Amino acid sequence: MKILFGSFWVAVFPYSIVRPPSWSHQKGHLWFGAAKGILEAVTSESLPIREGVSLAPFTTFGIGGPARFFAEATSEQDVAAAVAWAEAQDVPLFLLGGGSNLLVRDEGFAGLVLHMQIPGVEALGAGAFEVGAGETWDGFVSQAVAAGCAGIECLAGIPGSVGGTPVQNVGAYGQEVAETIVSVRAFDRQQRAFVDLSREECRFRYRASLFNTDARDRYIVTRVRFQLRPGGAPTLRYADLQRHFASASAGPALVEVAAAVREIRRAKGMLIVEGDPDCHSAGSFFKNPVVAVSLLPAIAKAVGVDGAEVPHWPAGDGFVKLPAAWLLERAGFVKGYGGGPAGISTRHTLALTNRGGATFADVERLEHEIIAGVESRFGVRLEREPVVLG
Ligand SMILES: Cc1cc2nc3c(=O)[nH]c(=O)nc-3n(C[C@H](O)[C@H](O)[C@H](O)COP(=O)(O)OP(=O)(O)OC[C@H]3O[C@@H](n4cnc5c(N)ncnc54)[C@H](O)[C@@H]3O)c2cc1C
Repeated sequence: MKILFGSFWVAVFPYSIVRPPSWSHQKGHLWFGAAKGILEAVTSESLPIREGVSLAPFTTFGIGGPARFFAEATSEQDVAAAVAWAEAQDVPLFLLGGGSNLLVRDEGFAGLVLHMQIPGVEALGAGAFEVGAGETWDGFVSQAVAAGCAGIECLAGIPGSVGGTPVQNVGAYGQEVAETIVSVRAFDRQQRAFVDLSREECRFRYRASLFNTDARDRYIVTRVRFQLRPGGAPTLRYADLQRHFASASAGPALVEVAAAVREIRRAKGMLIVEGDPDCHSAGSFFKNPVVAVSLLPAIAKAVGVDGAEVPHWPAGDGFVKLPAAWLLERAGFVKGYGGGPAGISTRHTLALTNRGGATFADVERLEHEIIAGVESRFGVRLEREPVVLG
């Protein structure tokens, strides 16, 4: 294997880690000079960059070709160095967290993939935590719950990194991460500086934020600050959870709610469990579509029911949100659908899975078939939730 330093290739033993002596004589130096203040520390110590690293094992789908270049960031200095290197080499940069909301194309990615590994869970007192982007989300949930802090117990079992959670404002079982985020620390590639963004500045909404909409690719999240509720009661908004505890005489503890959420997820193939083929997915593949209220009668007519029988939630003036799973099922795309290596999970209608040996092309074919089928039946165009790389 080769490790690339600036514009020099060096042959090394596979997986050995070598620190280059200095960046000062390399192409990136000019960039450092221009980036006042922030990158001065990034001169002598830099990060190893590997070539031709297969991305499939870094994703929960287990699909995708190689990254031309690949590096691990364990500190903010690494992040700044990677940005500088990618700019100097004029290659695109992609941030990889836990790869659980990601579908990589078969041909891979012709740029630098930066795997976010910044560690650290710091308890600041009174329910406040600052957490490194590379920590696993479910690990942090377990720590918070064990410390008696409420606010994220219903988000137990969501795979991926802490840094990935603000990107699409993860949500499940009646909670959204935006409810507890105070601020997000990130490297701003436009200003070339580390910035702290308040919750308002992150512009969180349903499965969206600044990071995956208006400012896509601009920010690299390095830390997230949370405010949880010490001693707070768990959230029991979701019907599945209420049912789970219906016969309990006393209100459940945080730890019981987190355990129940993981159990419900496991039953649906929505928990990463070794050997479970249904969890080789990116979770829900389609977002719940938001449509005009006026469309409801036509949707009802298409399936021969009354308008009131079409499940929906209010979504702002004149709009409603529809459950994508309901649309899929009524259009014939039921659990277990698909005869090839890519198919719908046998336990969750919204999850497309890799049943073994599936390629990006297999998943894309199934995605297009479902989108076209739902659109021709209901006139509603579904949108993909996972990010596509390559
Ligand atoms: C079985 C299963 C169940 C799931 N259940 C849920 C669920 O209930 N609710 C839900 O909302 N999601 C769910 N997901 C989706 C996924 O787990 C979340 O979206 C998760 O937050 C993605 O984080 P990640 O670290 O894996 O990001 P990745 O998949 O690595 O990346 C996703 C996107 O975020 C960007 N990104 C990642 N880290 C950073 C960073 N540090 N800075 C800037 N950008 C970054 C990437 O560039 C990419 O664009 C599920 C997925 C699976 C496989």
